Parts: sequence; structure tokens; C-alpha cells
Amino acid sequence: ELRQIAIYGKGGIGKSTTTQNLTAGLVEHGKKVMVVGCDPKADSTRLLLGGLAQKTVLDTIREEGEDIELDRILKEGYGGTRCVESGGPEPGVGCAGRGIITSINMLENLGAYTDDLDYVFYDVLGDVVCGGFAMPIREGKAKEIYIVASGEMMALYAANNISKGIKRYARTGGVRLGGIICNSRNVDRELDLLRAFAKELGTKLLYFVPRDNIVQHAEINKKTVIEYKPDSNQAQEYRNLAQAVIENKDFVIPTPMTQERLEEILMEYGMMELADDYKI
Ligand code: ADP
Ligand code: SF4
Ligand code: MG
Repeated sequence: ELRQIAIYGKGGIGKSTTTQNLTAGLVEHGKKVMVVGCDPKADSTRLLLGGLAQKTVLDTIREEGEDIELDRILKEGYGGTRCVESGGPEPGVGCAGRGIITSINMLENLGAYTDDLDYVFYDVLGDVVCGGFAMPIREGKAKEIYIVASGEMMALYAANNISKGIKRYARTGGVRLGGIICNSRNVDRELDLLRAFAKELGTKLLYFVPRDNIVQHAEINKKTVIEYKPDSNQAQEYRNLAQAVIENKDFVIPTPMTQERLEEILMEYGMMELADDYKI
């Protein structure tokens, strides 16, 4: 059965990198995957396509109208992946979130969701958890969510906020949190901190992706790590992440925490010690 998955997380945390490498890992398992970039940056499929080869759905509609062929907005990428960039509204005009739904509706109408698909990923900007960016979960498009986070306070702050959004739509729309993916920033005791944070949210740390410069090298070459250096440790990490997603069966309504509780956990794992030292 088709699994429609939304990836949320703070900007710059590594959503697009992680999603595309995870996708490449799923391809190796013979899975059919579509990636729908839902970030106005429109760089969610760059590594799968070997560059920013993609004109966004919203730009295409603006320039050519709604009467378009599917291949104008959907390009085939690494290993037969289907790549779409929703794009954004004209700067200063319109709601980016509404644009996401316009794009998804267009894809549905043009028959992009074929029966042979195993996974669709929505790579969504997650700093503002407004009604607009909650669209893919509000409208029940994606029922399975993963949050990308790290041991940095702002990443966890965003992850907790996103969980509040998920909780809101969990009852009505049936959306569930599948877990936290740590994209490491090499913060002290990061693994323990993320485990504790996930537990507090009522979910689990699905996978810990190490930080590795090979990600940048692959990025400069416009490739996923799996394509660029298939024998590297990092490529294996992404394969393991793909395996963890395939096997995951724990889907929950998250239990977001108060700001005080979040700070307590950060303190417990030594994250706020420095801040305390400054008080003296
Ligand atoms: P987002 O989509 O969340 O805005 P990106 O996926 O674009 O974030 O990642 C931001 C930057 O972080 C990229 O330049 C990418 O190369 C880098 N990055 C992501 N994951 C890792 C990692 N595991 N190790 C090293 N660098 C990473
Ligand atoms: Fe932007 Fe969100 Fe407001 Fe839409 S709802 S205009 S995406 S802030
Ligand atoms: Mg991105």
C-alpha cells in the first residue's frame, strides 16, 4: 500500500538532503518513490535530478495555465524516482501553503499517483507551522510524519512546535508521527538528548544520521551520497535509515511539551550549562 510521508523540520536542518538520500536507499530496495518538494526554495529534488533541472508546478501554472501535461512538472530522477517541486507563490503575494495543495491537486488530476508507487515524500518547510504549511497533513494527504532534528535547541524547539501541529490534526485527519530522525550536528550527548526528547514526545528516535563532510562533496557533485560514493559509511547510514522507515510500525499522536519542560531536558543533557555559567 502507498505510504505518503511528510518530512518536517527547521530550515537548514537537512530535510532535503536526508529525504533524497533516504529515497535513494529505498530505490535500492526496489521501491517506487515520488518526491514532492513543498518548500519555496525548490531544492528538494536537486540531488536526485543532478541539478536544479526542474521548473516548479506553480511557475508552470502561472506561465502556461492549468492545461498542462504531467511531464512538464514531473521529472524522472535517480533510479526512476519521480521528482516534483511545488515552488512558491509570487513573492509578497499568496499563501505558500495553498500553493502546496494546488500542486498536489494538479498532480492528482494529471495521474501522478499511479498504483505502482510505494512511497510519496513531501519535503515541507517547517519553521513556521502555520495553517498553510500544515496543509499536507490538514488535508490528509500525508498520514505519516517524520521530524528531522538535531541536538541544537532551535531544532528541538521547532520539532516540538511541529508536534503541536500534528497533534491538532491527528484526531480529525488520522495523521501520525512515525518518529524523529536525528541529523547530527555533533552536539555533546546528542544521541541521549534526542532519545529523551523523542520519548517525551511519546515517539522514538527512528535513526541517528551522523554528520559527515561527504554529504557536502556529494552535494557539490549534485548527487546523493548513495549515488556519489555507494561504498562510503555515510551511504550505508542512509541505507539503514531507509530500512528503518520500511520496518517502522510505531505511529503515534505526539505529546508535545511545554517550553519549560523542553528546557529542563536540555539542561539535563548538559545543553544549557553554558548559558548557566554566564549567569555567574
Ligand atoms: P533543509 O532542507 O532542512 O533546509 P538541507 O537538506 O538543504 O536542509 O541541508 C542543509 C545543509 O546541511 C546542506 O548544505 C547539506 O549539505 C548539509 N547537511 C545535511 N545533512 C548533513 C550531514 N548528515 N552531514 C553533513 N552535512 C549535512
Ligand atoms: Fe504564509 Fe502560512 Fe500565512 Fe500561508 S498561512 S500565507 S504559508 S504564513
Ligand atoms: Mg530543503
